Amino acid sequence: MKNILLYSETLAQVEYSPTHPFKPMRAKQMLDLLNRYGLLENTEIIEHPVLDEELLYLFHTPDYIQALKTCDHGEFDINLLTYGLGTHDNPIFKGVYNFSLQASGGTFLGATKLVDTDATFAFNPIGGFHHAMSDHAEGFCYINDIAIALKHLIHNGLRCAYIDIDVHHGDGVQSAFYDDNRVLTISIHESGQFLFPGTGFENEIGEGAGYGYNVNIPLLKDTDDEIYIYAFEEIVPPLLQSFNPDIICIQVGGDSHKDDPLAHLNLTSNGYQRVLTLIKQHSKKILGTGGGGYNLYKTAALWTLAWSVFTGIKPMDNFMGVIGGMMYGPEADAGSLFDNPYSIGGLTKDKCFDYARDVVAYIKQSVFPIHNI
Ligand SMILES: [Zn+2]
Repeated sequence: MKNILLYSETLAQVEYSPTHPFKPMRAKQMLDLLNRYGLLENTEIIEHPVLDEELLYLFHTPDYIQALKTCDHGEFDINLLTYGLGTHDNPIFKGVYNFSLQASGGTFLGATKLVDTDATFAFNPIGGFHHAMSDHAEGFCYINDIAIALKHLIHNGLRCAYIDIDVHHGDGVQSAFYDDNRVLTISIHESGQFLFPGTGFENEIGEGAGYGYNVNIPLLKDTDDEIYIYAFEEIVPPLLQSFNPDIICIQVGGDSHKDDPLAHLNLTSNGYQRVLTLIKQHSKKILGTGGGGYNLYKTAALWTLAWSVFTGIKPMDNFMGVIGGMMYGPEADAGSLFDNPYSIGGLTKDKCFDYARDVVAYIKQSVFPIHNI
């Protein structure tokens, strides 16, 4: 099997709270779409295993893990706030520790399958918790599955690139490898001037051995496909070509989409498809994760599109012939994997483009020479 999908019905049913915007259910919606579009050939579907507790300490501190464990009963204690636990963003709910451990187990297993088998692509839609810090929870993220999997991979001698297309800066992963040149970390996102977590500026380029190996591409709110693709194309392919990673890990947050309710970029499936295709062209093996994305069906559709690009299987709507394309229920929103083109104009376009050009110029000047580009 060349493709691995990590999927757990139990995890997909988990809710932080009924009103919390982060919904693991998107994984189930994605699986429905993968079936519907005939995208599961040559694919092994594996249930998320529970991560071995020892592996948590590749990134997290024992104090924090101890605190997170005490949350598993779902009871609040004021002292937990020190660890970012029990906030509006990171609520304490029954089973939170086990949920996080199993979600991380999925990403970790995906990583090991890429190393140990001939699989070339593994995807964990219930993963991508890029904000989790070593000693506290942050931004809906408790355990940083990405940092743990990447630490394991580099300890086994692999060169890894991490690309984060979530609309929010991947601050937890940045912190994990800020002084390490074994992971080339790239995050493209809405500028921290406007959006959580308020970091991820172009001048954060790493330190010590990692100097020049941390790349941030912040963009102004309203940025559309054309500007996003411009910035991505100018920066990412040359860096990947030079760094030549064994494995590319990509966090496919769906919240850069224009219909996302929590952020302000204007991407469509067209922008996503272009950058995903560029990544595919420079990859030997890909470890993909979900992430943000608060328009649930749109996010599931974008992950399905990512699956199609990374597996090279063309989507065929198996339902169309059977039911004449009739839409039903909430799935109507995800009737197609593709959006119509969308672009901004006028002064807003000029402002967003100018900002992107400045960021690109800064990175070319400060980071590219370190990679002999
Ligand atoms: Zn996000």
